[in-house]
Amino acid sequence: MTTNASPPQPVPGKVYLVGAGPGDPGLITLRGKYLLERAEVVVYDYLANPKLLSYVPKGAQLIYAGKKGGGLHAFTQDGINKLLVQLAQEGKMVVRLKGGDPFIFGRGAEEIEELVGEGIDFEVVPGVTSATAAATYAGIPITHREYTASVAFVTGHEDPTKKFSNISWEKLATGAGTIVIYMGIKTLPSITQKLIDFGRSPDTPVAVVRWASTPQQRSVVGTLATICDVVAKADIKPPALVIVGEVVKLRSTIDWFEKRPLFGRRIVVTRTREQASDLMAQLEEHGAECLEYSTIHIEPVDDYRIVDEAIAGIAAHHWLLFTSLNAVTHFFQRLFALGYDSRHLAGTQIAVVGKATAEELLKYGVKADLLPDKFTGEGLAESLVRTEVKGNRILLPRALRASEILPEMLTDAGAQVTIAPVYRNVPPQGPKEELRDQLLEGSIDLVTFTSSSTVTNFLTLIDAADAGELHRLLDQVTIAAIGPITAGTLREHGLRVDIQPGRYTISDMVQAIVAHYRDKPRQDT
Ligand code: SAH
Repeated sequence: MTTNASPPQPVPGKVYLVGAGPGDPGLITLRGKYLLERAEVVVYDYLANPKLLSYVPKGAQLIYAGKKGGGLHAFTQDGINKLLVQLAQEGKMVVRLKGGDPFIFGRGAEEIEELVGEGIDFEVVPGVTSATAAATYAGIPITHREYTASVAFVTGHEDPTKKFSNISWEKLATGAGTIVIYMGIKTLPSITQKLIDFGRSPDTPVAVVRWASTPQQRSVVGTLATICDVVAKADIKPPALVIVGEVVKLRSTIDWFEKRPLFGRRIVVTRTREQASDLMAQLEEHGAECLEYSTIHIEPVDDYRIVDEAIAGIAAHHWLLFTSLNAVTHFFQRLFALGYDSRHLAGTQIAVVGKATAEELLKYGVKADLLPDKFTGEGLAESLVRTEVKGNRILLPRALRASEILPEMLTDAGAQVTIAPVYRNVPPQGPKEELRDQLLEGSIDLVTFTSSSTVTNFLTLIDAADAGELHRLLDQVTIAAIGPITAGTLREHGLRVDIQPGRYTISDMVQAIVAHYRDKPRQDT
């Protein structure tokens, strides 16, 4: 018997309207993150931090729906509504990611109404709205027992001078203790005038906060009478929030975000992509804005014969040395690929160059037998030589090309060193125009270098024609080097070293940077 089966219809999809939070990617909800991690399509706005897209699975479709204030709409609202319907009808799991909270001046309801009309399943996830974030990150509690017991969220999008306003400015002026105005920069003169006309004191404190909760946050403070001039002088543009009320006075006590020692500093991080996150995270914790330039790319080597042979005969080696995280990971990859595990190394002593490498090693269940006093290749050589390495066989898995100081010092002390390449450092391809531009316009405060190869690769990235141009590019920039070898490489290229920690670890380098800036006022504020 045959049936007349109709072609399979896609299972209807679902749309999740998700609040992205105000800007800091750490302020999305766990539910929002969970949904992003499972999205098949993400339709995102101008105000949703694009860093959140890193949660989306590879291969998912990303659609930028624009909506930058001032009319630069990549899609009309109607276009977005239709797009969501169409994607859901194709059976997709759609995340509609919107800045702040989707239901606070976000036109979220309009998108939902369209879905309801088409019978499409949906869910809404709230977000931290920019009003509370701006207040909190500017050090202003929007309510306070002694100052106010009420707060109103208002849109300034609507010109208060228009004849039939939806907002009763007359009632609002004295009816709400704190007034937070979204989209109120363009109409600020008429808003402040209305509030004064309807009885709010011209001395009422006002704060305006732009790009709240991001490293670009800027806040200015004035009164209802003065804030327009203050905003004009500081050239504050949207997106910004206006906070009106006595609570603004508390900013002088509570301001914390902009007080962090590296706030407002732009720092170029030139570690390898695989390792940059630790340094960036620590700098960002202190308020810095980090620009990551991947100056080295790690790739496998073509030929593993040396390391394979050394692993097979590991028992004959007295020492196994690791001088980088990458050496550890790539050595163990090879060990496992050959069918061994960490127990194979039981009879060999292991030394590492520093703490981070020791920690990496511990992930494989192996504790280092020796950590040098000084965390450099030279320091490691000195510590090993003190253990009498004469006649010892030493295995050094490392990058294809690396400093020869360590193996030379050990060989000079009578050891027999086998250099086994387990990975390659591949330099960047071609110059980066945007980095050059930022250096030239002086918008970068600091560049960090964590190894000699980050120096040479950074120089490839900026591609200076001659020494004169190199100085023009780097004269205004502060330079931090992790240790003496890196500093030496910088000096060899005629560059200055402004910051160098006493101990050669990422944390010590971050502390040295913080100390450098601690008492230096920022120029733009
Ligand atoms: N749904 C969003 C608001 C969208 S309306 C929310 O809940 O926050 C857009 C307005 O929000 C902007 O014009 C600005 O007034 C405000 N805004 C959004 N993000 C902001 C930020 N990081 N800093 C300051 N204002 C912001």
